[in-house]
Amino acid sequence: MISLKNVSKYYRSASGITMGLRKINLDFYRGEFVAITGESGSGKSTMLNVLSGSDTYEEGEMYLYGHPTSHYGKTEWELYRRDYISFIYQSYNLIDSYTVVDNVESALLMKGMSKKERREKALKYLEMTGLTEQANHKGSQLSSGQKQRLSIARALAKETDIIVADEPTGNLDTENGEAVIKILHELSKEKLVIIVTHNFEQVEQYATRKVRLYNGEVAEDIMLNDNERITEEEPVDMTVEPFKDSVLFMDKKQIYARMKELKENKKAYRKNKCEDLKKRMAIAWRFVNQNWTAQPKRSALIFTFFTCVMFAFFVFFGNLVSSVDDATAKEYSTDAFWNGDTTRIEISKLDGTVVTQDDLNKMLKLDHVLYGDLYDAAHDVNYFMYSGDDYDIKYGDSGEITLQMLERDKFVKSDLCLTEDDLSDGRLPENSDEVVLSSDDKSLLGKTVRIYFNNPATWESDMYIAKDMTVVGITDEFDTQAFFDADLCMQLSMRFSDVFGTLYIQAYEDNSRGCVNAIWGEFTEDERDLEWYENRRSPKKANKQNYVLYIINDELEDGEIRLSKTFYDKFIISPRTGMTEVQYSIYKDVLVKAEVDGKIILQCANIVGEETNSGRLVVEVSRSVYNEIYGYRVNGDSQMCVYIDDYAYTDDVINAIKNIGGYEALSVYKSGVTEYNYEMVMDKLQTVLISLGALVVVFILGNFLVFMLMKIKKGDFIIFKALGMQQKVASDINFMDMYTNVIASMTLVLVVSAILSLCGVSYIYNIFKFYRWNSILILYLLGILMAHMVAHRFNRYLQKNDRITSLKEN
Ligand code: ADP
Ligand code: MG
Repeated sequence: MISLKNVSKYYRSASGITMGLRKINLDFYRGEFVAITGESGSGKSTMLNVLSGSDTYEEGEMYLYGHPTSHYGKTEWELYRRDYISFIYQSYNLIDSYTVVDNVESALLMKGMSKKERREKALKYLEMTGLTEQANHKGSQLSSGQKQRLSIARALAKETDIIVADEPTGNLDTENGEAVIKILHELSKEKLVIIVTHNFEQVEQYATRKVRLYNGEVAEDIMLNDNERITEEEPVDMTVEPFKDSVLFMDKKQIYARMKELKENKKAYRKNKCEDLKKRMAIAWRFVNQNWTAQPKRSALIFTFFTCVMFAFFVFFGNLVSSVDDATAKEYSTDAFWNGDTTRIEISKLDGTVVTQDDLNKMLKLDHVLYGDLYDAAHDVNYFMYSGDDYDIKYGDSGEITLQMLERDKFVKSDLCLTEDDLSDGRLPENSDEVVLSSDDKSLLGKTVRIYFNNPATWESDMYIAKDMTVVGITDEFDTQAFFDADLCMQLSMRFSDVFGTLYIQAYEDNSRGCVNAIWGEFTEDERDLEWYENRRSPKKANKQNYVLYIINDELEDGEIRLSKTFYDKFIISPRTGMTEVQYSIYKDVLVKAEVDGKIILQCANIVGEETNSGRLVVEVSRSVYNEIYGYRVNGDSQMCVYIDDYAYTDDVINAIKNIGGYEALSVYKSGVTEYNYEMVMDKLQTVLISLGALVVVFILGNFLVFMLMKIKKGDFIIFKALGMQQKVASDINFMDMYTNVIASMTLVLVVSAILSLCGVSYIYNIFKFYRWNSILILYLLGILMAHMVAHRFNRYLQKNDRITSLKEN
């Protein structure tokens, strides 16, 4: 069955060459129960290791069923250990964390045996060794006797012809030892059993042969009891498993021929390879699963560690992703938009037509869009509400008032940005004197507040409008914001330079002549026509003021206008008489001229008393006057805007808007950042470098520590190898183990982060919001790369350190 011809084994070490075996010649036959004895160091274990394919030999030849083995490579020895030999160790070499039945099954699993068959066989041999009751106990819970019986059961389940055992009773008491010997003796009737023992008396009455080694040589080889049952080598049937088609029994020519045959039929070859891989994967997958159930603590430790590493990846990679947008390293310039709110997106229609509520509604349906407004230009208008914080009033020497605008951080929004549902109290504004405030203080409702407005993009910077407004609604949905009636927003947001009219005021030397009737003129040229007018009426003089801003005051009757106090101060006061009544009578008839699209609109209006609180050159007018001047463009704007929940989603929303079709969209903030800001760039660079560095550190550290954790598993793999697990399968197990860990832990991290983000954990949200499908993919790839490196490294480590003979004798 198996024979050694002149087999020698050396051990090379630093101290020189030690002879393990010297020219051994032995033939072993089926039915033999061989006891190998000899003093310690005589080479017993070495011989067993050679016989079992656990160790190599240097010289001579070992024949297996008459076939030479000296040409075997790693793969062949793996197959040999898996299919032709079973080894019983003194120290059992069980997987302690596996159950009894799993220990037996693992030896069958690596053969690719089906689940049902595995279970049946395992139970059969457990019964034979009297372990049925303990089938579901953990290996570690067994007594020594039970452990050794389990290792026998595992060896038997492999159903090989050859069983070798190295001092199987060495750790057992007499009784248990006797039982083990009896089982082995029983087996030897059908098979070849070779056991190493230093207690020959124990086996004397069972052994059929005694081989004594001395200093690596056969010193004695004698037949004992019962040896008549041993016949001459009977030829094995090479047409049945495990002999059939086995590469172990082919010479090089045959192997080559078979390879050629396989390769010629490429399809079959590929199919074969594919099936091989599938089979190996299935086996590996089973082992990975088994490790989870069998070693929950160890697996959980590794998984937890992975989760920590993946979380660190998530954080640092997230920081990197967030730094990709270079807009955050640039200075915002107010050239285009005064209100550079990072969440504001500007939308216009590609055909340039006026935007409508329908257009806005489409935008409001998009993800991340919070609210929007058709009065987009008003969003660049500042309002000042809180004296001392937003503005200060200064009184000049001659009593003139100036408004100092302190903080330009509040921008007008129209009530389109709100719905009734947003209000915690009150209602939406219905006219331009009503306002909704965001506040927790409901007592504000019904109060009158004075609010100043300035449109820094269009007006002169010191020009302002003052309005006393009634608080008609309260909302708590916003931080600090006032919402104004659309009508007012439209007036405030006049964009064009020609929003300014020119105001002509006629003064008469002699006011006793009374009022001049309203005159409507079709003037096409201003100065000359005016002169004509002036001459006709022969006024003494006409004062003219360019760039006057008009605003509607609904309290004024048709055709009325009212001037601000500062208007009087700066412009009108030139009273010769110094009497106020005279002034009013002088100013009663006013010519208002506005140039619009080259057309001059002339209106005669009455100045009514009472000064307004607005600034210099602001004129409050009745609606009729206003319409006369600006009516042409009240039909709407070609731009609207929406606000999104976070700047991080800017590009997504813009793309979504473009995908609707027919719209152009841009981020106000991004279009306003132009110049790199040195400090911001440095800050950003620092973030990038720190994140990148941290990522690398975590990657390397994680790699190293997971590898350390994996090392715990080394022992298991050596046992698997002794049982005949192919190295490829072991490697597959590790890859699969690492991959599943990394994918599961990364998924966990992402799912938990998503949940925490939704729950409002801002730290997580601020990272999570930057992730998109592609960055998540990269994140996974990063994790998988690490897992792959660890598995690869551990596999290499295993290959270097997996000498079966390193399994401790005790
Ligand atoms: P036994 O099992 O009979 O006690 P061994 O087969 O273990 O003896 O050892 C036989 C000889 O080979 C001894 O001299 C031992 O020192 C040597 N030997 C065994 N294993 C190794 C090894 N891995 N490296 C070097 N020498 C070894
Ligand atoms: Mg030994």
